[in-house]
Amino acid sequence: MSSHFQYREGALCVEQVPLADIAAQFGTPCYVYSRAALTDGYRQFSNALQGREHLICYAVKANSNLAILNVFARLGAGFDIVSGGELQRVLAAGGDAGKVVFSGVGKSVAEMRLALDAGILCFNVESAAELERLNEVAGSMGKVAPISLRVNPDVDAKTHPYISTGLKQNKFGVAYTEAVALYRKAATLPHLRITGVDCHIGSQLTETSPFIAAVEKVLALVDALAREGIRLEHIDLGGGLGIRYNDETPPAIADYVAALLGALAGRSEKLVLEPGRVLVGNAGALLTRVEYLKPGEEKNFAIVDAAMNDLMRPALYDAYHNILPVQRENHVSQSYEVVGPICETGDFIGHARELAIAPQSLLAVLSAGAYGMSMSSNYNTRPRAAEVMVDGASVHLVRERETVPQLFAGEKIIS
Ligand SMILES: *Cc1c(COP(=O)(O)O)cnc(C)c1O
Repeated sequence: MSSHFQYREGALCVEQVPLADIAAQFGTPCYVYSRAALTDGYRQFSNALQGREHLICYAVKANSNLAILNVFARLGAGFDIVSGGELQRVLAAGGDAGKVVFSGVGKSVAEMRLALDAGILCFNVESAAELERLNEVAGSMGKVAPISLRVNPDVDAKTHPYISTGLKQNKFGVAYTEAVALYRKAATLPHLRITGVDCHIGSQLTETSPFIAAVEKVLALVDALAREGIRLEHIDLGGGLGIRYNDETPPAIADYVAALLGALAGRSEKLVLEPGRVLVGNAGALLTRVEYLKPGEEKNFAIVDAAMNDLMRPALYDAYHNILPVQRENHVSQSYEVVGPICETGDFIGHARELAIAPQSLLAVLSAGAYGMSMSSNYNTRPRAAEVMVDGASVHLVRERETVPQLFAGEKIIS
């Protein structure tokens, strides 16, 4: 739990605001973010990187709310995007296109045009075919596209298979063994300008060793390219640093950065990082209310008003999120399956949680700032949750709760 989420006299607070007040004002389910926690995380990166030319590109897909992007933009962040839509969000939030890197295996022509028009810092190209397409699109616009190749260093990130991306068998990046040949090819294409190299080996990594193994492979590639006269301006080491959800012990941001800088000793290229989860994960909680308690023969269920459409991580990865009562209350403590109202057995928020609760109790699902709202859906025609940002004693609604008419506004009945 971030230090910005604390109990005060039995009431769980975000910064100076009791979560119960937020539920009363904005209803549930509701995502709540701490501006101070967002700022702290970013500063830990920028302090650790002081004295070295760098760019911290927040990975937008972790949480793309405009208010969050704006907090980071004002701190000087760049952004790692994976779609044209994310680019439009960054621009709408006041982000600088010149600090945007564009990753992803399936960039469309329209997305390439959008990014070239905006003047982004770099395309992280993930295949030979994309290199060709980008060269054509840039040529047709009379522009030159700045590129890195995303190389797949073939290291085991030791994380959940769905979020491991740096192994040979993954769809991401170009094979390490083919990278030099592809850079040679890129150097011959007239509408591309080689600026860097990129890798991103996975998410929720809790050890530094896979990152260091990746750096070493990337540096060997940088040297091989230099021998051919291809000199790079920046090295992008991606994101992936994990957070504590339960009992994980990921390295602190400062230690992770120090390890990277150690491996990069003597190198003068600008360092680009793409942290997502570690900047937002523990800065957010999902606030939910208990609708029913349903005692069972084998298990007791606490049925809450948040569901897998609001927070998909438990259903998708069997992920653990700590669940705390918003108010310490005098009820009998029991073990509950905390589940949502959706018609799927996979719709759970937590298994076997010891909680002292009653119907109408409020719960906070912690560490929900990353890949929570951004992965949410409207399954079961459930409007998406409201989002709130707390800044000291102030509370700001940063996304209104969706309404049902909005959900089917684009649908038509045929005659
Ligand atoms: C998802 C992603 C990130 C961020 O990953 P985190 O684990 O959230 O830090 C960074 N770079 C790329 C290319 C990504 O796809």
